[in-house]
Amino acid sequence: MRIVRRIKEMRSFSNAMHRKGKTIGFVPTMGALHQGHLSLIRRARQDNDKVVVSIFVNPIQFGPREDFRKYPRDLKRDTGMCRQEGVDIIFYPETKQMYSQDYKTYVFVDGQDELLCAKFRPGHFKGVATVVTKLLNIVSPDIAYFGQKDAQQAIIIKKLVCDLNIPVKIKVMPTIRENYGLALSSRNVYLNEDERKDACVLYQALNLAKGLIKKSNRNPSDIILKMRQLINKKKTAKIQYISIVDLKSLKSADKIRDEVLIALAVWFGKTRLIDNIIAKAQKNS
Ligand code: AMP
Repeated sequence: MRIVRRIKEMRSFSNAMHRKGKTIGFVPTMGALHQGHLSLIRRARQDNDKVVVSIFVNPIQFGPREDFRKYPRDLKRDTGMCRQEGVDIIFYPETKQMYSQDYKTYVFVDGQDELLCAKFRPGHFKGVATVVTKLLNIVSPDIAYFGQKDAQQAIIIKKLVCDLNIPVKIKVMPTIRENYGLALSSRNVYLNEDERKDACVLYQALNLAKGLIKKSNRNPSDIILKMRQLINKKKTAKIQYISIVDLKSLKSADKIRDEVLIALAVWFGKTRLIDNIIAKAQKNS
């Protein structure tokens, strides 16, 4: 396994592999790897001849009051995990390689501003879309892997790949959770014991909603109210939003038809967690 810091070196690896007819699977990450990341890496390993994992804490996707500086970083541990999973290359670019002093170009997927997390994290998805576009251009993978945990991110990436004609297949993999339901996230290390216990309520609330939909409740406001009541029982929880939206457009559903995404963001102390689940309404109810 090689750690590549320079864009030029990353490109020449990819070019050489493509010339030999080898496929490249790519997993973009911000490091502080956990089993969620590893599930993407394992899938990439299964599907491709070569696997590239990028580790880059992308400054432009963090808001001024967000956790860019304290975001967990542990290259040594990440390197060990990647080696064990048979990763071929860790692409670990310097910030100044990715964003020169006179950097001016951004990728922005229109129509997202008011939807789900975008409403509360202005500029975040522009930062994500920009860095993912750059990484796809640098690594030129055949398949890139993303997690359903960041559902809105996955939708935005699929859209930009389609709209900008980037020749890559996007695979979205299921959310990996702790046994007690908490979705794995690099930010979970911020939680203290009480917050971690309380945070289990997120998956319970999502399952409560899924169960209500299964029992023919088609009223999003009613379901959201019941989720709120459950989450608000936890002392450290402060809800930012809970939404039930159309799976493709991410627009709020007035009545639940077919498949919906139930998504939420909740603060536990100073840590903001997101989670989501897909629920399907039975046709005949
Ligand atoms: P991050 O390092 O947080 O930017 O995440 C890198 C990739 O891992 C993204 O595609 C995430 O959606 C994915 N990911 C993060 N957490 C999980 C999880 N619990 N299960 C599955 N994928 C995840």
